[in-house]
Amino acid sequence: MQQKIAVFPGSFDPITIGHVDLVRRALPLFDRIIVAVGINSTKRYLFPHEQRMQWLHEVFAEYPTVSVDSFENLTAHYCQRIGARYLLRGLRNASDFDYEKTISQLNHIVGEGIETIFLIAQPEYSHISSTIVRELIVGGADARQFLPEKVVIKM
Ligand code: ADP
Repeated sequence: MQQKIAVFPGSFDPITIGHVDLVRRALPLFDRIIVAVGINSTKRYLFPHEQRMQWLHEVFAEYPTVSVDSFENLTAHYCQRIGARYLLRGLRNASDFDYEKTISQLNHIVGEGIETIFLIAQPEYSHISSTIVRELIVGGADARQFLPEKVVIKM
């Protein structure tokens, strides 16, 4: 039978415990999960690409079915290239839903049937976002409670 491969795309600027929880909950659903950093040359990031990739490698090293990669251009084309039929995304609130709905419909068309599997964030993680974490870090606050232990921010 064909392997069930899911891509979990994102910026992971930086990865948070919310992302990790999502991947852990998706482990039983897929044979392989590829956590993939989308490279968008027009977007400004707080952490360099290499740093974000290194954190992902460290955080997911303990999960044998999870690998880490990065891609340029369209997520749907990346999925097709590597033979992934599923995308994994998290939903924290209604604005996530509104945004994700259109993207998932587009990916289904462009990716010729790629299905996006959504997991609703657990209540204890639904307030966590990379955006908030970045604001805390830039503001000089301690963001450790939102970050996996392996993600150490040098202040
Ligand atoms: P993007 O740059 O594509 O928004 P992110 O790195 O911010 O990527 O997030 C990647 C995915 O992880 C998104 O589907 C987002 O909804 C999900 N996600 C982020 N934080 C959480 C969380 N706290 N709980 C569940 N899902 C989350």
